[in-house]
Amino acid sequence: MQVYTGNGKGKTTAAFGLALRAIGRGLKVYVIQFIKGGFDYGELYIADKLPNLKLKAFGRGKFVTEKPAEKEDVKLAEEALALAEKVIKSGEYDIVILDEVNVALDLKLIKTEKVVELVKSKPRHVELVLTGRYAPAEIVEIADLVTEMKEIKHPFSKGQQARKGIEY
Ligand code: ATP
Ligand code: MG
Repeated sequence: MQVYTGNGKGKTTAAFGLALRAIGRGLKVYVIQFIKGGFDYGELYIADKLPNLKLKAFGRGKFVTEKPAEKEDVKLAEEALALAEKVIKSGEYDIVILDEVNVALDLKLIKTEKVVELVKSKPRHVELVLTGRYAPAEIVEIADLVTEMKEIKHPFSKGQQARKGIEY
């Protein structure tokens, strides 16, 4: 199980880079995106173009930042987790990416215990990747690999807007 966390750019793109490499080897990949919203992300359009890639995004098209969580966001995150459970346990996919799941955990939309349980019960051959800032300690603890993307510089702080095809 791998975790990509931290405040620097590259978590989601690293996960998709891994997906691309795996697809090159004929492996099957399923990406489930939690709380994805605000932008019309480019990755939403790749599943039709690549063999062996499935992608489903759960989000309302807005940034979720508020604590406490809104009901609708909790419901969507629970749906995303239920799908994750089904996909992982089926053993049909070699790589399962739960994009931004760490943020959903940080916002308490879903319970950390549930994700920990899911990680522990996954079939051995399934490579699981959890992305998002603020990975909880319990998740870091059970991971085999944890990479922290650390912001050194980002053009956002100079007022550069997010760019289509680069940031979204
Ligand atoms: P990416 O999707 O580009 O790999 P990420 O997954 O590491 O980024 P998130 O925290 O998921 O980063 O970021 C959500 C959005 O904000 C993405 O469009 C991302 O490119 C952008 N972003 C990432 N890091 C930063 C940062 N340090 N400052 C501003 N924007 C950022
Ligand atoms: Mg991301």
